[in-house]
Amino acid sequence: MYRRYHLHIDSAPDVTLLPSPFLVRVSKAGLAGFLLKEFIQYRGNRTIILNRPCMYGVFSGPVGGFAPREHLCVGCLRCTTQYPEFVKILPNPARSRLGDSYFTPERVGTICYEASSGKIPVKGAGYRGQFGGEGWDGLWTDMSEIVRPTRDGIHGREFISTVIDIGTKPPCLALTEQHLSGEPGQVFSIPTPVLFDVPPASLLTDTVVKTLTSAAQAIETLAVLPIGVLRKAALSGRHIVPLITRAEARAIEDLRFEPAMLELAEWDQTLLERVQRQFPRSVVCLRMELPSTATLLRAVDSGVRVFHLLANYHGRGSDGRFVIDLFREAHKALVAKRCRDEVTILGGGGIIAAEHVPKAIICGCDGVSLDTPLFVALQAQFVGETVSRDASSFKLPSGLAVDWGVQRITNLMASWRDQLLEVMGAMGLREVRRMRGEIGRAMFQKELEEEAFSEIAGYGS
Ligand code: SF4
Repeated sequence: MYRRYHLHIDSAPDVTLLPSPFLVRVSKAGLAGFLLKEFIQYRGNRTIILNRPCMYGVFSGPVGGFAPREHLCVGCLRCTTQYPEFVKILPNPARSRLGDSYFTPERVGTICYEASSGKIPVKGAGYRGQFGGEGWDGLWTDMSEIVRPTRDGIHGREFISTVIDIGTKPPCLALTEQHLSGEPGQVFSIPTPVLFDVPPASLLTDTVVKTLTSAAQAIETLAVLPIGVLRKAALSGRHIVPLITRAEARAIEDLRFEPAMLELAEWDQTLLERVQRQFPRSVVCLRMELPSTATLLRAVDSGVRVFHLLANYHGRGSDGRFVIDLFREAHKALVAKRCRDEVTILGGGGIIAAEHVPKAIICGCDGVSLDTPLFVALQAQFVGETVSRDASSFKLPSGLAVDWGVQRITNLMASWRDQLLEVMGAMGLREVRRMRGEIGRAMFQKELEEEAFSEIAGYGS
C-alpha cells in the first residue's frame, strides 16, 4: 500500500545553550540619557520606550537595555548605526571557539537550529556572503526557475522522490514471454539518500549507539556500527549495518538477525565469501578510504557491487584532494568500465551541511553517510581539530537522553530532506536517483573562471 514518506518534527531545544554570536555593549550613562529623552517624548509609554531601538527584542527585557538579551541579537547593526554613542555590537569570542577549522561556528549554529526545530534556516534580507570558494563552495547547482516541475512547492501535488536503491543491480533485465529471467540482483531501498556512519571511539557510548540506531529506525535508514559494539549492546534490526574487520570475522556467526547490509572494513576475499555464505540474502558493502580507484576496480572484478568511500572529517582523501574530485574520479572510473549502473556508491567525509548532500550526489554518489553533523546535533563538543576518523575526540553533554537525541536527529534529517527537495525542485528533477552524476546540472567555479579568464595575461599566476 502506498504511504507518503514523512518525518515527524517536534521541538527539541538545545540542552547546552550556544554562546550568542554577538556581544551587545551598552553604555549605561548614555542609555539613561537616551531613555530620559524618550520618556519625555513618548509621555512615559513603557512599551515604546523599552522596545527601541531593537525590533528583535534585545532591549525589551524587564530592565530594557540595561541587561540586553544577547541571545536574540541577529547582528543587523541597526542599533549601533542609529546610536553609535552608546551601543556597540561585537563578535563573541566564545562563539568562535565552537567546532573546528572545517566545521565552523556558523555551521555548528545552523545544525543546532535545524536539529532543534526541524526547519529550514532562512536568513532573509538577501545573502551577503561569498558566491564561491574552496571545497563545496566551488560547486554550484543549476537552479533555473524555468525547469521547475511544479509551482506547488516542495510538498505539493507533484511528489519528488528521495528513494535510493542499494545493492547489486543487473546490467539489464532479461525477459521471457511472461517473466523476468536470470538473476534479479539483490537490492533494497531506503527513502532518503542519507545513512549514519560509525562514530569515533570517544562517542561509542551506550546512549549514543542507542540514539543512532533508534533514529535510523525512525527515519527508515541505516546505521553502521562495529559488530563488537552491536554484540555488547545486544542490538538487532535491519536498520543496523554491522561493520566487520578481518579480526572479528568469527563474530558474524553470533549475529542473531539478518541485516539488510553488512560492511567489510577492509578488502579480503576470504572474509567476503564467509559473509556471503552466512548471509546469502544480505547486501555486502566494502568500506574504503579515498582515493581508491585502483582497489575499487579490482573489487568490482571480484564481485563487490556496493562501496562506502570515505574521506576524513574535513573532506580530504589521503592525498589531500577534496571529496568533490575524489567522488567524481571514482564515478568516472566506473562509467569508463561500463558498470556504473550495477554499482552503488555511498560517499562520506566532509558532508556537514544540507547542500553538501545534493552536491555529493551530483559528483557521483548514490547516497551519503553522515558523521560529524550527527554529533553536533547531539551537542557533542569538538576537542581540538577533528580530522581523522580514528583519532578525533568529542565531548558529550552530560545527561544525554535517547528520546531527545532521536528527535534532534529526526529534525535534522527532516530539515536536510526539505532542502534536498528544494534543490531538486529548482533543478527540475523529480527523483534523487536521476541526480547521481548529473554534472550537466552543476557548475564548477574553477572551470568557469578558466573559461572566462584564461586568455587574460596574469590569470592563475
Ligand atoms: S544589532 Fe540588531 S538585533 Fe542586535 S541588538 Fe542591535 S538592533 Fe538588535
